[in-house]
Amino acid sequence: MAKHLADYGSAPVDFIRGEGSYLFDAKGKKYLDFQTGWCVGTVGWKNPEMAEAICAQAREGLHVPPWFRVQRHEDFATRLIELAPGKLNRVFRACSGSEAVEFAIKCARMTTGKSQIVTIGGVYHGHTYGAAALGNASTSGMEPNVTGFIKLPLPKTDTEAEQTITAFEDLLKSRKDIAAFMSEPVWTNAGCFIPSATFYSTIENLCRKYGVLLVMDEVATCMGRCGELFGSQLWGIEPDIITLGKSFTGGYATMAATLVTEHVFKKSTGVPYNSTFGWALQDLAAVEKNVELIIRDDLSKNAKEVGAYLLELLKPLESLKKIRQVRGVGMVLAIEFRLPISALIAAQCYRNGLVTEFTDASTLFLTPMLNLTKKEAEMGANIIKKACGA
Ligand code: PMP
Repeated sequence: MAKHLADYGSAPVDFIRGEGSYLFDAKGKKYLDFQTGWCVGTVGWKNPEMAEAICAQAREGLHVPPWFRVQRHEDFATRLIELAPGKLNRVFRACSGSEAVEFAIKCARMTTGKSQIVTIGGVYHGHTYGAAALGNASTSGMEPNVTGFIKLPLPKTDTEAEQTITAFEDLLKSRKDIAAFMSEPVWTNAGCFIPSATFYSTIENLCRKYGVLLVMDEVATCMGRCGELFGSQLWGIEPDIITLGKSFTGGYATMAATLVTEHVFKKSTGVPYNSTFGWALQDLAAVEKNVELIIRDDLSKNAKEVGAYLLELLKPLESLKKIRQVRGVGMVLAIEFRLPISALIAAQCYRNGLVTEFTDASTLFLTPMLNLTKKEAEMGANIIKKACGA
């Protein structure tokens, strides 16, 4: 269909505008948006306060290369540090989640002088070479890849969590080249798998015991998405490095960040950080306002409560034979089918005015706006139930 664009999408609908939790296609049909750009939407599309913040900065007009000092960058970094868990104290400016992940990998290696990063397999961490090698993006035919990633199985049960922890400790005992454990607080793109209650506190204790860094890729879980401002706060852990993206911007900017402790920062001074557009001022104006609104309107709490309500509405689907499990935390939910029918169900939802996504052939993925209302949750749940034949 595309003549010149290399990455033209394959979705069946072309959307032309959005408003609140809704999208509109070229024919004017209105859809409830339960995808919101894949873990991105926060304060609603076409939010007037967001538009005003972006326009106000555009009227100022300023762009400088990364080696100039801009007080607004410093002030926002300070704000992020106030909000972030644990002892994070310095911020690297980035334009995308993939770039933030690259910073995290580089800083982990530079800080420890060690090469290996232990991670959970089958999880997406971005499209650039390092992030792709850490995660599951394909680089087949593009080798050589970045090496130095050890992948443990994704634990789906408490027993599997214990096995993964034992495997990690075995690695720590037997190898001296491990820099970090790096993964997501909730395995979002893998199908919304939620770690067991003590998984991450145990991983953190092992990291401390053996002197390796704990790195959380919070690109998909940050800024209220999981019902806490940071996904790490679900588990009470204090990572040495975290990455931010997606809901950090609410879909109004191409901006991301990597937060590190003072110790990591001091050891990472050789890491290249000159990003031409890193925190360009219009992007920054948008992200500042997005974060301000998430906090002012307590959207983490809304995501927790309305997300739990949506989960409660969808949970009865588990009584259907074709459904294996309905799971979720905050505004990240998944419906896992016993058959490869997620594309069919998503298409049925489109027809009935609901936008959903799927993480694989048998898992429907839902990441609504953080400010979704209970009424909208009910509307969406009804369309999904109908599509599932309930
Ligand atoms: N990390 C995680 C956990 C992600 O979900 C994604 C994007 N799906 C990325 C990194 C990469 O972010 P981006 O697409 O902004 O480069």
